[in-house]
Amino acid sequence: MQIIRQPKVYDVCIVGSGAGGGMAAYALTKAGADVVVLEAGQPWDNTKDSAMLEWPYESPRRGASTPERPFGEFDACIGGWEIPGEPYTRAPGTEFSWWRARMVGGRTNHWGRISLRFGPYDFKRKSRDGLGDDWPIVYEDVAPYYDEVDRLIGVFGSKENLPNEPNGLFLPPPRPRCHELLVKQAADALHVTCIPARLSILTRPLNGRAACHYCGQCNRGCRVNANFTSTNVLIAPALATGKLTLLTSAMVREVTIDRTGRATGVTYVDKATGADVGVRARVVVLAASACESARLLLNSKSTLFPNGLGSSSGVVGRYITDTTGTDVSGFIPKMMDHVPHNHDGVGGMHLYMPWWLDNAKLDFPRGYHIEVWGGTHLPTYGFLGGMHRFPAGGGYGKQLKEDYRRYYGASIGFSGRGEMIPNDDSYCELDPAAVDRWGIPVLRFYWKWSEHEYRQVKHMQETFRALIAAMGGEVFAPMPTREQGYGIAAGGTIIHELGGVRMGDDPKSSVVNRWCQAHDCKNVFVADGGPFVSQADKNPTWTILALAMRTCEYITEQMKKGAL
Ligand SMILES: Cc1cc2nc3c(=O)[nH]c(=O)nc-3n(C[C@H](O)[C@H](O)[C@H](O)COP(=O)(O)OP(=O)(O)OC[C@H]3O[C@@H](n4cnc5c(N)ncnc54)[C@H](O)[C@@H]3O)c2cc1C
Ligand code: SF4
Repeated sequence: MQIIRQPKVYDVCIVGSGAGGGMAAYALTKAGADVVVLEAGQPWDNTKDSAMLEWPYESPRRGASTPERPFGEFDACIGGWEIPGEPYTRAPGTEFSWWRARMVGGRTNHWGRISLRFGPYDFKRKSRDGLGDDWPIVYEDVAPYYDEVDRLIGVFGSKENLPNEPNGLFLPPPRPRCHELLVKQAADALHVTCIPARLSILTRPLNGRAACHYCGQCNRGCRVNANFTSTNVLIAPALATGKLTLLTSAMVREVTIDRTGRATGVTYVDKATGADVGVRARVVVLAASACESARLLLNSKSTLFPNGLGSSSGVVGRYITDTTGTDVSGFIPKMMDHVPHNHDGVGGMHLYMPWWLDNAKLDFPRGYHIEVWGGTHLPTYGFLGGMHRFPAGGGYGKQLKEDYRRYYGASIGFSGRGEMIPNDDSYCELDPAAVDRWGIPVLRFYWKWSEHEYRQVKHMQETFRALIAAMGGEVFAPMPTREQGYGIAAGGTIIHELGGVRMGDDPKSSVVNRWCQAHDCKNVFVADGGPFVSQADKNPTWTILALAMRTCEYITEQMKKGAL
């Protein structure tokens, strides 16, 4: 293969510009490093490209999804479950889907912005229940970086002093909306802890960014930067330092290694020309998303590392996890025929329910949090779909229109988001027979839920049904059976895939050390969800950001000492 080799040697080369890559670019350029970011996707300008203020009737599809926009045509994320020319495969019997973004900022362009810290228990789960593995670090190691992320990016919430839901440096939370007040009443009646949500959306101006004006369209991309995207909150200030070179449509193929086993940089495919280009750097930071970083390591084969970089332990690609999830929704008669009222809010929930129970009294380990949706929203394609599920709903013409008016806003939904325990049967490896359009070997996934996850999801279903009953409502669908997995969402579909490059003190059982530095190659680091030892009952991105910041502080110190 002919490679166009660039003469320049950067201090750091970062692969990916999502949550992890954006934070790495921000932290390293602010520390004075000369950085190049290679991003497989394309630029996207929220001030011009966002559909934040478009009416659904301005589109012939009313916002329905398209192949390029599986979450609806107004959604901000370029990418999807399937990307033309970039396949992945599944072992027979495996149900796993892999969402990939292909744009500057990665998935932070349309993520839900639920921004939760992991708690002290989450780093030491094996010590508490004997399952999985402990992290080599504790909450206190990460806490100062969580604080810094809160200050830099902004997150609203409330100080609750719960043992495993650490307080942050919160902006004031928005007030609950009508349907959320009813949820709070039901939760209180059932003794389910229900508190203000924690989202990285500004309720006060911060660091030159405007406060939210409550249009509720965060997933379309915020034109005023009131919510967090890597693009505008991390990459933009990194570019402003003059220290960042951002190369887009640059699909990294592998990390290159010299004869001493030190990384010299990466090679990438310039998607515009198809040319292979070599970039040189003193340090390589992989932040291409957890599974893609595992793929890059496995594809970085050399004489010294014939099975791929970092794989002397044999655990690259192993112990991948996703959040467990299931949903229940229902009709709430007391929300019918509602009095028109101001229902404005952020593009996400104003309340949530953190894990509140004691596992000693349950038949499954670990926990889940509950997300809330429902009430009135800007109606788009598919709104109030399944009208026949409402009492006497459906039909044609005038009657149907009246039903839409009557039932608009009278439904509620709960989503459980819980902790999966890593297992030996859930992993990814290179498929020996499949390559992408550039000839790069692709991942093959293996996936299996254990009885722990099925029991946890059964509990979610029962709890959500009890909450809807406490609201005086009727659930839309019957309880899924054991044969239906109690309605557990397929692996990968909650889009919180983590692990595959896990951290640990022992190079025999982990890929990176406590600083997310490869055991086998000291100038390679991983700054995405790959190093996670375990999930938690929290969404992962706030921890990806805090760990990426911590890793980059370590890189800066080591470079100053001449150790890298
Ligand atoms: C709809 C949705 C809702 C979500 N909601 C939440 C939430 O509420 N809270 C939460 O904590 N998390 C949420 N997440 C998950 C969150 O988006 C991810 O945890 C986070 O973005 C991961 O950051 P990352 O940097 O690892 O990867 P990404 O953000 O995916 O960025 C990776 C980047 O690397 C690039 N890349 C990949 N391969 C290569 C390559 N070979 N060469 C060059 N570049 C490459 C990609 O193009 C991409 O831009 C949500 C995700 C989705 C899709
Ligand atoms: S709800 Fe707020 S943060 Fe979200 S898009 Fe609208 S103004 Fe921006």
